[in-house]
Amino acid sequence: MESSIKKMNREDWADFINNLINNSTYEVIGVKAKGKRFIFAPLESADELRLDYDTTILPPKKYFLPQYENLLSFDLSKQSVNIEMKEEKRIIIGVHPYDIIALQQMDKVYFDTYIDRFYKIRRENTIIIGSNILNVSERSFATSMKAHTVTSGYDLMVTDIGSSIIIEIGTERGKKLMERYATNITDATEAEIKKIEEIVESIESKDRKLKVDKENIPNLLKRNYEHPIWRELSEKCLQCSSCTIVCPTCYCFDIRDEVSLDLQGKRIRTWDGCLLPDFTRIASGEVFRKDKTERFRHRFYRKGLYIPERYNFIACIGCGRCSIACIPDIADPFNVINKIAEDSEETRGEIIFEIPVTRGGEEETAYIPRNGIIRRIEKLTEFEKLFEIELEDSIDFNYQPGQFVEVSILGVGEAPISISSPPIKKGSFELVVRRVGNVTNKLHTLREGDKIGIRGPFGRG
Ligand code: SF4
Ligand code: SF4
Repeated sequence: MESSIKKMNREDWADFINNLINNSTYEVIGVKAKGKRFIFAPLESADELRLDYDTTILPPKKYFLPQYENLLSFDLSKQSVNIEMKEEKRIIIGVHPYDIIALQQMDKVYFDTYIDRFYKIRRENTIIIGSNILNVSERSFATSMKAHTVTSGYDLMVTDIGSSIIIEIGTERGKKLMERYATNITDATEAEIKKIEEIVESIESKDRKLKVDKENIPNLLKRNYEHPIWRELSEKCLQCSSCTIVCPTCYCFDIRDEVSLDLQGKRIRTWDGCLLPDFTRIASGEVFRKDKTERFRHRFYRKGLYIPERYNFIACIGCGRCSIACIPDIADPFNVINKIAEDSEETRGEIIFEIPVTRGGEEETAYIPRNGIIRRIEKLTEFEKLFEIELEDSIDFNYQPGQFVEVSILGVGEAPISISSPPIKKGSFELVVRRVGNVTNKLHTLREGDKIGIRGPFGRG
């Protein structure tokens, strides 16, 4: 059987690229250096192509969903409309696996209920030549998002192994392109194929690692809608939406008409971003996501919860571009998810809420907390919650009006909280807690059934 993994020496690879640039009907796009960073742009010669890049400023999304696009032209004086659908043919060389996965995600969105013909024609007319990652971006966590390697979504996949270029054929279209424009192609040896595996494994060891499995992100977010991180970080947000502009999986756009004095007009589609204050402005002028914190949080929930619920994938492939683009450095999903995970049960193997020994009696509870189980949580305001606590040891808990308990969370600390239920209440007691510090902020992230430590009651009542 013919092998689908081929190789070329470096000179033949360069000839192949130059042949595509000079003799094919395609516009040839590739990764080029721009200062110290990299961009996707038209190639003028094979010498410009950089397969050793870490990540590009913008993803290849711009060739399928342009930043500014004319959907149709019209003439108001004649009441005529003209749809200009260009059939641009392109080859994009050097697309990393995470960007290929991002394009596959975009396909699901743009081919959903209504097929976007503009996007579809560009997808069909574009040949993707992928490239395995050789250098890992310092902000990448693609391995944790299982996006550092890919098995479909490309016509050809190349790996620069130093001595030669290894080429995996992904589609018939890719195979024909090689047959027509490349020379001196031979089968890759087993040792050369093994080298690809080694390169992929080396990425895994260099990438940043999330503290939760990708599959647990939706649940983690579900439980942390009120986490203080949303307000803390959003206070620094410049509302520039750079994080969505550079993101390969963000797909929102706005449409507007532009009309000139001679009554000629264009209907324009431009990228839009959910961090922008006007993103949710509707015709009546109402803005239904007015608060900066809500917009900041929404970006994470859209990617990590709402899209997974609808399409069954997390709309983040861990490229780290948003993290690089964000001036106050608050947009990085890696940092946000890890911080929430540290504060939550999802943190692997760490039990921080359970007190190992449960004791009863006034003397013993002076310094050693008793286990309290949170039986009920009621949100009273944005900052206050009521917690109903039942002591696990079932030993009577007698208190006077005005007394307090020390609420204790191992690894975080203790905080004195007044008991808000009347002493006639038996079996459990209630605490109304405003989140203002480490312990109370942590307490606000807990859910019914979680355990906390209780000392007391204290005070004279
Ligand atoms: S999170 Fe950062 S990049 Fe995004 S809008 Fe705010 S400041 Fe801009
Ligand atoms: S959210 Fe950030 S890390 Fe995730 S895909 Fe978008 S740009 Fe990349």
